[in-house]
Amino acid sequence: MIQLNEHERAVAAHLKHLKDQAGTHSPSIFTLAEKIPDLHIRIDACFLSNPYATDLFLDYLKRELIDTGKMRDVLEFYPSQNAVIAEILASCLHISPDNIFIGNGAIEIIQAVLHRYAGKKIIVNIPTFSSYYEFAPTGTEVVYYQLSKDNDYALNIEHYCEFVHNQNPDTVVLINPNNPDGGYLSFETMKYLLDKFSSVPTVIVDESFIHFAFEDDNYSLRSVAELVQEYPNIVVVKSMSKDFGIAGVRAGYAVMKNDRVKELLQNGFLWNSSGLAEYFFRLYVREDFLSEYEKVRVRYIKETQIFFSQLKTVEGIKLYPSLANFGLVEICDGSNAADFVSKLLIAHGIYTRNCSDKIGLEGEFVRIASRKLEENIIIVNAIRELMS
Ligand SMILES: *Cc1c(COP(=O)(O)O)cnc(C)c1O
Repeated sequence: MIQLNEHERAVAAHLKHLKDQAGTHSPSIFTLAEKIPDLHIRIDACFLSNPYATDLFLDYLKRELIDTGKMRDVLEFYPSQNAVIAEILASCLHISPDNIFIGNGAIEIIQAVLHRYAGKKIIVNIPTFSSYYEFAPTGTEVVYYQLSKDNDYALNIEHYCEFVHNQNPDTVVLINPNNPDGGYLSFETMKYLLDKFSSVPTVIVDESFIHFAFEDDNYSLRSVAELVQEYPNIVVVKSMSKDFGIAGVRAGYAVMKNDRVKELLQNGFLWNSSGLAEYFFRLYVREDFLSEYEKVRVRYIKETQIFFSQLKTVEGIKLYPSLANFGLVEICDGSNAADFVSKLLIAHGIYTRNCSDKIGLEGEFVRIASRKLEENIIIVNAIRELMS
């Protein structure tokens, strides 16, 4: 069992206070460092991003904007309008620009889509990313579909389809891979579900972690975004924060039928991308950037899978199956998740996500992100020490 000494208990109480203030999201490491100065944070395994992709973006930014002085233009002038950026993306996504809506992060899109299209009843699978129920407008009933712990939180397809059929919702939400467990639905399964749900007015598919999932030896990614003509009820939400490691840039987009894009744009969102986000989107469609990104994507996936296989060997914890860049870990030795997170942070400088505020998780859970190879080794060793 994990035991905290007096000093650690005091820090843990402080930590809990900061977490309570942050609501259903975690305080950032910068907030922690500011408010608890004697913490020495070495590794942020709470935030879920590919650190190699951040390095790549920074390389380009330095070379093309900072060293050339073009950064001034990015800061001084208005960025392009939403529809102009959609047009840039269209070429690389192989989707018509009328079907693309650009967001100031995916969170802005989730909020906008829920407020306009959620309808009377929305089904959300739990555990989940909290915004999908928190941002449901008043008047929308949120119905939870509990993913079963006995089934490792994997979706039981037939049971779920029957549930949706009986509930007759206006909107269903599928996060693929799911946050916080990393459970993945294959492209074929997604198509099967979309066929079943053709009469549901809105099917939100959040693919914010899809770059980390794979189905074959080439690590190819399979998005349902290109099926928007075939399934006009889908809204495919895509954050760039995690797979490109640029949460501070605030870039995301969604693919949906064109009258919905038009409707949303009539309500604002004209210049909702910053100059930096526009720079990112322009990079995102460039072949040189994409081919370098593909290398760091595959490298990171491989290292993440090694990280998972090592975590599985640690006694006293259970890692749930994940095809995302993080693992949902259950603490099985009787310790609680708050003590685990506090001890790991105070004694080892590793910040992980306590999942005790996640509805639909029965037990003591933490979510641990994969970082760079050498950091992952430090994380595994620290957890091994903690659990011994
Ligand atoms: C992080 C996250 C988002 C929000 O991403 P931003 O683009 O940073 O707003 C959306 N959906 C899921 C499932 C996430 O985990």
